[in-house]
Amino acid sequence: MQYHAYGTNGPMVSAVGFGVMRLPPKKGGGWGSVNFSQGVPVLRHAMEQGINFFDSHHNYHGGLSEVALGKALKGWKGQRIVIQTKTPFYREEKLDFFKKLLEEAITKLGVNCIDYLLFHSMDMKMFQKRGKGFFQLTDWAMKKGLIRARGFSSHDTSENIKKFVDTGEFSAMLVSYNWLNRSVADAIAYAADKGMGVSVMNPVGGGSLSTGTRPILALLPRAKSAPEVALRYVLATPGVCTAMSGMNTLAQVDENVAIGGMKTYMTAAARAAMGKKLEQLHARSQVICTHCGYCMPCPAGVNIPENFLLLNRAKLLGLQELARVGLRQLKEHKDGDKSALACKQCGACLSKCPNKVKIIRQLQETAKLMG
Ligand code: SF4
Ligand code: SF4
Repeated sequence: MQYHAYGTNGPMVSAVGFGVMRLPPKKGGGWGSVNFSQGVPVLRHAMEQGINFFDSHHNYHGGLSEVALGKALKGWKGQRIVIQTKTPFYREEKLDFFKKLLEEAITKLGVNCIDYLLFHSMDMKMFQKRGKGFFQLTDWAMKKGLIRARGFSSHDTSENIKKFVDTGEFSAMLVSYNWLNRSVADAIAYAADKGMGVSVMNPVGGGSLSTGTRPILALLPRAKSAPEVALRYVLATPGVCTAMSGMNTLAQVDENVAIGGMKTYMTAAARAAMGKKLEQLHARSQVICTHCGYCMPCPAGVNIPENFLLLNRAKLLGLQELARVGLRQLKEHKDGDKSALACKQCGACLSKCPNKVKIIRQLQETAKLMG
């Protein structure tokens, strides 16, 4: 595994980090549950294989991701583990509410101090409204030794992210970036240049770039899989310290560790060649859905991220038939139609999407795909 300094004054962190949000769920339990007997060994295996950066959130898996990480950390005697977690400071709650959340996180993790506490999903409007309060919270927490530093995660524009960096108040940031959605590349380089630690979420597009079709594998000759193409592209981006991957099997950990340990993620020539191919692909693509689920629930029952996963599979990766089968299954779902055809175009989802996906338009496109 390669290690990079997480900002000028930060610790050394593994090139591939662990995004603790896709642990195996309990049978029939869904996302708000964790199968601890499967998930904890995956976390522990990652630590043993050299992954030392773990990114969580107070509410991933309904608050159980921090519990799972705490279980994996128990009795750990290996290298120092760096923990980054997030707080929903966009919520209109008093400071005490967030103090309590932080204290709960520390208890769940079983640590004395969290390395980085991030303002989750901060945008300019939210920063202007609640930034001062967040500084108050994090100043208090740093003084008490509950956190080492503060940062933010954001889906805002590159321009606004640079403005957050320019405040000089943050040590770390987590942004969404992958070969299909490279809009914050300059903000990443800018933040790193100013001494901040930069971590990347959605390096494999929330799973949508993980299918090894011919168009994807052709982007990087000799790459063995689509996640390899995606991770190597992100890791070769100037300024990126660590890319978060949501792993849920031991095999995924091993694959990621092998990629993170490569001497060179991508030569300059390979990067330039991939850049050219991406320009051609980009001409055919749309704003990509990262399957964060923030737009859900839809009052008409549409499973928005699932429809877009299928749309992107068809449109970008050439998996039309597979996509059609998936869409038929959504239409015939036992709980009612969850396909794009059920969309009533009410618009309730639009403002909730951090990636500004044109949801209605893309759902219409998905419906067309169904014939
Ligand atoms: S616009 Fe369509 S997908 Fe969005 S909330 Fe309304 S019905 Fe659901
Ligand atoms: S459409 Fe937007 S909000 Fe909904 S899952 Fe995709 S990226 Fe997230």
